[in-house]
Amino acid sequence: MTEMPNVLWLDEISKDDIPSVGGKGASLGEMTSVGLPVPKAFVVTAQAFRKFLVETGLEDSIFTLLSDLDVDNNEALEEVSQSVKDLVLGAKMPEGIKEEVLAAYASMGDGEMVVAVRSSATAEDLPDASFAGQQETYLNIKGEADVIEAVQMCWASLYGARAIYYRAKQGFDDRTVNIAVVVQQLIGSEKSGVMFSSHPVSGEPLTIIEGSWGLGEAVVSGSVSPDKYVYDRRLKRVVDRLISNKEYMIVPVGEHGTELVEIPKDRQDEPVLTDTEVERLAEFGRISEEHYGVPQDLEWGTVGDTIYILQSRPITTIGVNAHKAAPAAAPAGELGAIILEGNGASPGVASGPVIIVHDVKDLGKVRDGDILVAKMTNPDMVPAMRKVSGIVTDEGGMTCHAAIVSRELGTPAVVGTKTATKTLKNGQVVTIDGEKGLVFEGAAAVPAGAQAVPAAQMVGAAVAQAPIITATSIKVNVSMPEAATRAANSGADGVGLLRIEHLILGLNKTPGWFIKNGKEEEFISELYTGIKTVLDAFPGKPVWVRTLDAPTDEFRNMLGGEDEPEEHNPMLGWRGIRRDLQSEAQFRMQVETFKRLWDQGYDNLGLMFPLVSHPDQFVRAKELLAGWGVDVDAVDLGIMIEIPACAILIEDFCKAGISFASFGTNDLIQYTIAIDRNNQLVTPMYWPKHPAVLKLIHDAIAVCREYDVECSICGQAGSDPKMVEWLIRNGITSVSANIDAVPKIRETAARTEKRMILDAVRSRNAEERNL
Ligand code: PEP
Ligand code: MG
Repeated sequence: MTEMPNVLWLDEISKDDIPSVGGKGASLGEMTSVGLPVPKAFVVTAQAFRKFLVETGLEDSIFTLLSDLDVDNNEALEEVSQSVKDLVLGAKMPEGIKEEVLAAYASMGDGEMVVAVRSSATAEDLPDASFAGQQETYLNIKGEADVIEAVQMCWASLYGARAIYYRAKQGFDDRTVNIAVVVQQLIGSEKSGVMFSSHPVSGEPLTIIEGSWGLGEAVVSGSVSPDKYVYDRRLKRVVDRLISNKEYMIVPVGEHGTELVEIPKDRQDEPVLTDTEVERLAEFGRISEEHYGVPQDLEWGTVGDTIYILQSRPITTIGVNAHKAAPAAAPAGELGAIILEGNGASPGVASGPVIIVHDVKDLGKVRDGDILVAKMTNPDMVPAMRKVSGIVTDEGGMTCHAAIVSRELGTPAVVGTKTATKTLKNGQVVTIDGEKGLVFEGAAAVPAGAQAVPAAQMVGAAVAQAPIITATSIKVNVSMPEAATRAANSGADGVGLLRIEHLILGLNKTPGWFIKNGKEEEFISELYTGIKTVLDAFPGKPVWVRTLDAPTDEFRNMLGGEDEPEEHNPMLGWRGIRRDLQSEAQFRMQVETFKRLWDQGYDNLGLMFPLVSHPDQFVRAKELLAGWGVDVDAVDLGIMIEIPACAILIEDFCKAGISFASFGTNDLIQYTIAIDRNNQLVTPMYWPKHPAVLKLIHDAIAVCREYDVECSICGQAGSDPKMVEWLIRNGITSVSANIDAVPKIRETAARTEKRMILDAVRSRNAEERNL
């Protein structure tokens, strides 16, 4: 048997060499072989490590220590781990190995090359967790002595306490476990970041690139908000870019370290990448994805005009079903032209024949898998909306009925196209992209209806892969009981808004009809079952149920709709708490339902009153509840802050005893700047971050904090990462997002919290230095 070399260069390595060079080494070798620009590197092989153990005589002493160890005894585990690591670090590397490593290092540069030294796990049949604690990386290593020391430190990391524990629990013999070490030229990246060769949730051929200034750790660790670029591989162009304010970057410092430094003000808002660079990066992503046969998660860096690909591994958040949907990665050109543009209201791609719905009469024609096209959807269309594979409307923005319902159903939707009902024809086959807001001619290779599965499951899958703990409570908005499981799978900390009107509207009868026909029990039982489904999906977590809030025009087409008042402007009319306080019979049916649920022990049910403008309304609602037998001191009663008057009087609400408050920004924005949220003509003026809106929110949060009242948001702005960053920085303690947005919002919260801690520590250090 030929003896395996101690050192192998990347171009000598293929994927079959994992036992010698580990997963990382083999992957870099493969990447090099397909022509990806990987920085120069060699691998100190697993055989070198084994020789080291044998020649130094460590093998026996280490395995004796390990074989006597009870890994469930934490103290002993830590102690043995430390002793073994000390043995490995204290032993002298055999001259033969050392010479080869140093010769390889010398040939990389003039013996002064700055390198990264990384552990590379060798047992391909071990799950990643078995290598926990073993993936040590030492950056910015320079000079012979330091390279040798770093290699030994990687070797020692094989005996970290967690690594020993996992191997023992999985029955792996420590004698057979090896480790390789990659020594790689360290790129002093001027720009760097990460890239998903395809969309990490849906698997679509959208390359997503995040980038920032300086070394990549800033992006990977989340200590900066990077720029984000979306490159559509079908259209071969950048389709979205979000340029962040990048305050910090990580740069190499001294011999070994890195440092977080402030980016000069004039570069903070400058885009990191040009479109040409995005395109070149996306091409490398494509090469890698095609080579490995699955979408890749890559790390990249640039020096001058040179792009380097530092790592490529499969994206783990795309599940089996999303791969099925991934045929959207169909060869470019298969899709037809873009025929309409609107707002991407519910993500996902769907193809199917168009069915145009002008009114109730057309609903019977809707078939499974159709693309429903309407001026705007309304509640009586919900049963049809459940069947279709996609929804397109002429009117509406991100908070319209079609947007809210389709997000809940996990059905891709494009709203506000202005002319869909005129441009599209019945039976015409189209493909819609609910993320980018585009409608294409023809069918993509996405099986109709497939989008609902990934949308439903991938959110959960992404969370299952990477649970992130945040101090901010990340809740979820729910409107339909059928979405409860999906909502819970998002990993949300509770429901920050359960809109019950969708539950009632789905019955196709107005509350007035139930009362007029003596069918209150029917109403109560439907409402009870729907809310209970959501409560059951969130055991022990708060579920804030909002009392009825439907404008009268939404009731118009239902049984009993003829008795609804004709209102000149329903948005400013008889809705929310005002209607309930005037129509006690309607309010009482709801309260009876809540009371039965509380009586059943669902004490996680909190009630939220919409459209309150004066504390007297809250007080009156509470009195009515008490009068109907609710123990109002034992349950959580809160309000929505949706009217400027409410934000301005928030202190009086706190004094009146609210348990929580939640910004309904969809309404708060329209009432503050007088822009109808549903009116297409003024949509461009609907400005969520209008300074007046921000001031109302800022001041109300401060008051809630003073009174220790939980303050949240449940409007659409709570699904916007930028807005959420601002809210957290301004003291909000809870955010309720749409189901599909929960993972992203949790990530934003985690990143923002980390940045705030970092800022606080830095300013405290600066203060101490000035003392
Ligand atoms: C809001 O106004 O922000 C809100 C969440 O309520 P709705 O969209 O149901 O009016
Ligand atoms: Mg509202």
